[in-house]
Amino acid sequence: MKLLIKNGFLISKSYYGKYDIEINNQKITKVAKHIAINDHKLIDADGCYVFPGLIDAHTHFNLEAYGAKTLEDFPKGTRTALLNGVTTVIDYIIPQKSETLLAAYHRRLKEATGSFVDYTFHAQIVDVNEDFSTLIRKLISYGIKSFKIFLPKTENWYIDDGKLYIILNELKKYKNVVLEIHAENSDMINVLTEKLKNEDKLSVKYFPLSRPNVVEYEAVRRVISINNKVGCNIYFVHLSTKDALEEIIYWKKQKNKNFNIYAETCPQYLYLTRNVFKIKKNYLYTCCPPVKSLSDKIFLWKCVRNSIVDVIATDNCVFSKKMKFRFRDNFTKIPMGLPGTSMLFHFVITESIKRRLNLRNIIKMVTSTPAKIFSLYPKKGDFLALKSDADIIIYYPKEKWRVNVKRLNTVADYTVYEGYEVYGKILKVIFKGNLVVDNGKLLISQPQGAYIPR
Ligand SMILES: [Zn+2]
Repeated sequence: MKLLIKNGFLISKSYYGKYDIEINNQKITKVAKHIAINDHKLIDADGCYVFPGLIDAHTHFNLEAYGAKTLEDFPKGTRTALLNGVTTVIDYIIPQKSETLLAAYHRRLKEATGSFVDYTFHAQIVDVNEDFSTLIRKLISYGIKSFKIFLPKTENWYIDDGKLYIILNELKKYKNVVLEIHAENSDMINVLTEKLKNEDKLSVKYFPLSRPNVVEYEAVRRVISINNKVGCNIYFVHLSTKDALEEIIYWKKQKNKNFNIYAETCPQYLYLTRNVFKIKKNYLYTCCPPVKSLSDKIFLWKCVRNSIVDVIATDNCVFSKKMKFRFRDNFTKIPMGLPGTSMLFHFVITESIKRRLNLRNIIKMVTSTPAKIFSLYPKKGDFLALKSDADIIIYYPKEKWRVNVKRLNTVADYTVYEGYEVYGKILKVIFKGNLVVDNGKLLISQPQGAYIPR
């Protein structure tokens, strides 16, 4: 049966205003000012905003790292995502020690079955060898269009400048392929951490001292300098500093460069400051990079306001309070990461309203822009008839509530947004044409998420 959403106020890249939406099977079939009611099942969205389902372009479900395992596997994490307005996630393929990237790809496909939302992956390159070209070609043929590298010496993920150069040269051969970079200077982190260790300062309160702003700034600047001679599309994940953003602004303004450059930040860098490291439960706020100063936060908001930031994604990585508490006296051992996906929708909408931002621009940062950068558009991230999947959020703006971890339908046992005042609530979520969430209740028991080859 066809579904008809009437009288909603649509906000997406392609639509801004009151429109009706018709849905058949999994797709949006028509968007118009007035669609006559026939044999439709009707949803009245009068007084509501209607958004495309959100894309969280940076999640870590079922991750084993830092000697721990995340609380969320794909079914658990994506159930939380769906209930909170996220209908697509892009997670990571990270090879374990002695595992090939290709084997990791197959493992991740298995781990992700049972997902409640659609998903794809960024493939993390941890090494290059003589078969590297073949490997990349193969992964691209499997539908992987984005890769990631890690510059700090975390786990077995470190990529040096030589390897960086090889990777950039390989990936630039492909149109629409993008390399993500976790940009922090490895050697500086090591020297500073060693110094803190010698001074007996490894408790979490000293954690930010191991990663001052220059750590991110230098890595961003170095990657761009090298890439400027190569020309690969690059995307910086979880940017946290004014210094790095200023460098990116400089490069975004360069007209004749032969590459695209994208900036991502996360809600935690827009919400928290390093004051959190002074409080008793500071260990709950540990993520990499660490949250920075108030002036960084203010500058990041400026970059969101003027669209220098392209994407807001969460870097969702859920460890329990207990796992973090255990290493509160040694930040080099603490499992890094924060719960995030559950708050992405609530945070960006609330802040847009509170800060009087252009809501349509902000919505693009969590829908059509990540969809375009990562080759998911227009299947995901918009309302284009006969092209877009019917992933839709119906949001009622006139209500306020305070965040409590239990209300977020998550297996996480804390949130850094506890007590945060949210504006409005999600009334309904439609996923691939089916009404799956109604008034906070999940209506399905069988997961309907699938892998999206790109
Ligand atoms: Zn991450």
